[in-house]
Amino acid sequence: MKEKYQILARRYRPQSFKEVIGQDSIVKTIKNSILYKRIAHAYLFSGTRGTGKTTLARLFAKALNCKNLKEETEPCNVCGSCTEIATSRSLDVIEIDGASNRGIDDIRQINDTIGYSPSGKYKIYIIDEVHMLTKEAFNALLKTLEEPPENIKFFFATTEPQKVLPTIISRCQRFELKRISNELIIDKLSAISKDLEREIEKDALYQISNFSEGSLRDAQSLLDQLFCYSDGKITLEYVNNALGFIDPDFFFELDSQISKANTSFAFDFVNKIHSLGKDLSYIIEELIEHFKNLLILKFNAKASKFLSEAILKKYVLSSALYQEEELFYILDTLTQATILHKNYFKKIHLETVMLKIIKSKNVLSLDILVKRLIELEKSLQSNQISNIEKKEPPQKNEFFQKQEPSKNEIDLQKVNFNLEETKKSISKDQSHYDTLVRFAQVELDAINKT
Ligand SMILES: [Zn+2]
Repeated sequence: MKEKYQILARRYRPQSFKEVIGQDSIVKTIKNSILYKRIAHAYLFSGTRGTGKTTLARLFAKALNCKNLKEETEPCNVCGSCTEIATSRSLDVIEIDGASNRGIDDIRQINDTIGYSPSGKYKIYIIDEVHMLTKEAFNALLKTLEEPPENIKFFFATTEPQKVLPTIISRCQRFELKRISNELIIDKLSAISKDLEREIEKDALYQISNFSEGSLRDAQSLLDQLFCYSDGKITLEYVNNALGFIDPDFFFELDSQISKANTSFAFDFVNKIHSLGKDLSYIIEELIEHFKNLLILKFNAKASKFLSEAILKKYVLSSALYQEEELFYILDTLTQATILHKNYFKKIHLETVMLKIIKSKNVLSLDILVKRLIELEKSLQSNQISNIEKKEPPQKNEFFQKQEPSKNEIDLQKVNFNLEETKKSISKDQSHYDTLVRFAQVELDAINKT
């Protein structure tokens, strides 16, 4: 008989606490409460989608009712209670989807069944998306929460804890689940691929985890789809096509065109993306990701460890084309664009942004301008110092031999003397200074106009 197909997220759902990834401190707290038998009446698991809220709630429920705990805290997954919970047949662990059972009648049903004692140790209600309940339902629930019998437990899960009544939250022990890191998601996806005997490129895994934004379930669903559509090895190119990402080489080409200040490339770039039918606001996010990677390389090459050697090499080459400040300027321009045109990103908007970015080679940011002015001023001063030193070297030696003052004193005297000289020279060189200020004015105007 052909085995029934099970989606990856379900097939690889953790059956024990040690299989849970990315939520170590919460797992530790839960295990301790099982170990020391200090169980609260209600728990609230909050966090973004796909981070393991209901998985943890189910594991906790399983462990509480397991007849044969392993290592004192892990559910055995063999006893009657464990297998019933795993197949959703348990009468003691009742799962309610708050999104579709949000009315007062649904909660009344809970209140009505609470009186019946569980066949195991505890009767546990797991309410998913609890924030979706109506106000009346919340109030009905609150009554139950105020004085629940000792063997009744509530596990709530929500992606939006701010929408849960404070009076409910205050009666719960709260667990805030973290987004799962790319590193952990990639490890998990690698393990799944290996188990399924499927080949997948490292860059492809990186792209999937990046796209999933810390949601393991999303990442697993994507992997599932990719495996379904292709029998062969999953490459980065395949993932990019499937997810609608742009070929990274197109971004590296952009880097090279920016370094040449080739403004006409702005239109070529947008035309190409437009003709591919890509969502333009989404491209901005991809551009941000690209320039962020370049900036990370400027600071710390280790941050890009998930990229393959080939891609990393291209990033290193591109990164050398920019100054740190230029990358900050570009990222700033891109994030401003997303704020401005959040809901209606048109072709013309993208063209303007791209023109601005390519032209940024010629436009100095305010930061760079100020930095350059300071440098110019410093070099003016140091020229004076070196001139003075050139003029009067013998005196300096005599000074050392005769008086033998401490080094600090010498520096202080020298600096005071030089400052006076510099002031004089600046006033003498007023015309040069004026030119500098005019130059600054022109650059500022250019920034304001773009
Ligand atoms: Zn068990």
